[in-house]
Amino acid sequence: MKWTKTALKELEKAPEFVRDMAKKKVEGVVTEKGKESVTLKDVQDVFEEYMSFMESDPQEKKTTIAIVRCDRISEACPGSACLLSLQARKVNFKAYGENAQLVAMFTCGGCPGRRISRLLNNLIKTVKVDVVHLSSCMTKDAYQPPCPHREAIVTMIEKKGLTVVAGTHH
Ligand code: SF4
Repeated sequence: MKWTKTALKELEKAPEFVRDMAKKKVEGVVTEKGKESVTLKDVQDVFEEYMSFMESDPQEKKTTIAIVRCDRISEACPGSACLLSLQARKVNFKAYGENAQLVAMFTCGGCPGRRISRLLNNLIKTVKVDVVHLSSCMTKDAYQPPCPHREAIVTMIEKKGLTVVAGTHH
């Protein structure tokens, strides 16, 4: 797939970790349109769609959120930074309105994200879930290198029709 220079420059505005995922998403949309190259507008349209989902009117639609954490890091981290960041609508939660609701927070179950799919299937059937945040301990080079399975995990979650956001509190 060809990219124009301006489209590539626009893509660079996405945070580094999500850039590959954003690129795939844009190329998927462009392919669906039957086009063979990506323009600035294609990238802007995908980014806009994502932001409008995050900012959708909280009074009309209660956005439901699940947070998935690294099982290994949970041995040392109680997850409070993720929760406090959500409560304060900071960092990766700042686009949510007051009505957004945390409906689940669980660890991945160990490499390679053993129980994420099963637990999300349960959530989809029981409480509706819109967005899955992968905790910053999975996505950032902070406490340890980022989760080596994160891209496969993102793909698996997106195949369920859920939106994935990389990161929580930093
Ligand atoms: S799959 Fe990733 S998030 Fe889960 S324990 Fe392994 S490194 Fe941590």
